[in-house]
Order: sequence, then C-alpha cells, then structure tokens
Amino acid sequence: MNERRMDVILVPSTHCNLRCSYCYELDKLADRRRMSLDELDVVFERVAAFFARSGVQSARFIWHGGEPLLLPPDYYHQAFELQRRHFARASTAISNVTQTNLTVLDDARLELLRTGFDSCGVSLDIVGSLRVNGNGQCREDRALANLERARAAGVILGGVTVLTRANRNHMRRVFDFYRERDMSFRLLPLHAGDFGAGQWFEIGAADTLKAFCTLADLWLADSWGAPIHPITDVIRAVFAYHADGIRSGIYDKQTWDPMLAIDREGFVYSYDDIYDRSKTYGNILHEDLEQLLQGPVHRAVIAETGRRARETCATCPNYGQSCTGIGVVEGARDYWRQNADGSWRCEVFGGLIEHVERHLQRAGLALRDKQSWASVPEVRASA
Ligand code: SF4
Repeated sequence: MNERRMDVILVPSTHCNLRCSYCYELDKLADRRRMSLDELDVVFERVAAFFARSGVQSARFIWHGGEPLLLPPDYYHQAFELQRRHFARASTAISNVTQTNLTVLDDARLELLRTGFDSCGVSLDIVGSLRVNGNGQCREDRALANLERARAAGVILGGVTVLTRANRNHMRRVFDFYRERDMSFRLLPLHAGDFGAGQWFEIGAADTLKAFCTLADLWLADSWGAPIHPITDVIRAVFAYHADGIRSGIYDKQTWDPMLAIDREGFVYSYDDIYDRSKTYGNILHEDLEQLLQGPVHRAVIAETGRRARETCATCPNYGQSCTGIGVVEGARDYWRQNADGSWRCEVFGGLIEHVERHLQRAGLALRDKQSWASVPEVRASA
C-alpha cells in the first residue's frame, strides 16, 4: 500500500505587509486577527485524532498567510509545543513548513526559521517584481538581502516564483538565480480567475508550457540536480516509465484525499476553494475532522475531481503510465482546453510530457547518467 500522507494548509492570519499585484487575498491583507492558541489546540487535537484513525504516516503543516512571519515567533513556538503534545503518541511523522515574502526578518525570526520550521519557501519574482507594498514600492530588494542573511545563518530555503507576463521570458535568469544558490524552487503560474480579469501581467497556458519546457531543458542540460516543482516531478515520472517501466499510477482522491486547508476561523476547504464559504466542509473548531470529511461538500468536491479526471485524463495515453493526472485533478482550469470534437487537450502537462519524451528519445535515455539524478527527491504537490 502506498504511504498515506497529508498536507494541511493552515492560515492562522491573512495579515500581510505587502500588496503584491497578483495576490488573491488582497481584501484580507489588512486584517490583523489571528487564530488563537486555544483554537490551534483544538485544530491539532482533531487533526491528530483523524490521522490516528486513518493511519496517516506522514503529514506536513503548511503555514500560510498573509505573511506568516508577521506573527510573533513565540506564537509559533507555542503552537509547535501544542502540536508536539497532540502528536506525541501518534505514529504520524509531522513537519512544519512555511512560505514567506521574507521582507521582515530579525534574530528571533531567523532562529524560528532555523530551528522551528522544517523548511521554508521564499517568494521571489526574480525579474519584473510585482511584489510591492501599499505604496506600490517593490520590496524584493529587502527580501533578497534577508535571503542572503538567512542563508549565511544556515537556514535552508527554497524558492517560489510566480510566473507572470513580467518574467515569463526570463526563465534562464530564474534558473541561474536558484542554481547559483543551490536552492530548489517551485514555478507557480498565475491562473485566470485568481484576480480581476484584464490585468497586464496575466499569462495563458502557452506561456506556462513554454516556461516549463525551458526550465526542463535547462535542468536536463545541467549537472545541477535540485528539484524544480512541478517540472522535475514530470521528468522523473516520464523517465521512470520509459527507462524502467515503472508506472505512475493515478491520483485518486476517492481513495485518499491528501490535502485540506483551514482558514483563520477554522473553516475547512479543499485548497483551491479556500475562503469560499459555499464550499467549506464545515468548521473544525465545532466538529470532528472525520465528520467534516464525510459530509456532503467534501463528497461533492471528490466527485467533481473524479469527473474532471474522467473527462480529461481517461483517454490520455499518459494517464497512469507517466502521469497520475494530478495536474488536472488539482490544477487550474486554464491548463486544459476543449477541442472542436468535444474532447479535451491537456495543454500544459500533456505538452510538458511530450517535450520531455522527445528529449529522452534524442538523448537515448542518457539521463540515467545525470550525476545528481539519484538525489532528486519527489516533490509533493502543494504550496
Ligand atoms: S497528461 Fe494531462 S490529461 Fe494526460 S494524464 Fe496527465 S494530467 Fe491527465
């Protein structure tokens, strides 16, 4: 049986010091309220009970904001202590990760990143920064200075780069930036619908595919082996199937749904639906998590993902072979299109798989010789 894993995206506060142009939480960023430690205690208690009953072997708590580092470090130290208490006798291996804009960093926060969190992703645009404050001033310079300070202090950081019209043609610079620092990173394309329509920085599926393919080429041509999510996940799966005959299997949320999101008030959602109260499973502060996950909203979300996979992936030759279908099940709608005959075309993930297959055919599967290949860990699919 596959290992049963879980990602819990936890938003204790949406307060943020920046107003990034593409942020999907703009109307919530001035709100300084936070989930209390008493409420977090209930969350951990109920999550731990659910994990124990469901046999979850490993789980990540992904602390999101707003800007998570605006909360006092002591809040997290106390939260981790509560968490340790609830998971002390559990057989679930727990880790805590966060994603920060890194514009606020003092000694206490440095220590929190070094010893409290297991890993941390830093949001950086690298080119054409849209990471601005309320006055429209770019704050990426501050984040970059703090990045070097944190790295010098021994903090292991990953990167998160949002793909926009501003940086879509600069993937080599993005790649070189992270390569020089030996930082794994995630390229996170903007999706239509996450912000008001008609913004100049919007991109389409073709931009995303082009950026993914460029990064795949750069990575494949280089001895550097740190993961680039989701590109190296795709390379790994294509290689495993074509070189070693190892099938990817399918991503089936009906069997096990490995992701949930909890907002500041305790409402639980699928990650894509966070803050949409019409799609909440209910409130973990008032009900057991197991009850919430057995409720009609969660069942409807699962049914919808199944329908989407049947519609788009079921006729795809990659499905279950070199692709689990996670891109469609968890991805954004602008990644696939309907053809004139009514069938669906998986533009981004299908396109990237074809691109990698062509590379492997040309290279005669020489990727096996890539020095650092064996060290490429699987990158999990969220945050
Ligand atoms: S390539 Fe696209 S359509 Fe094919 S299985 Fe993967 S996600 Fe589904």
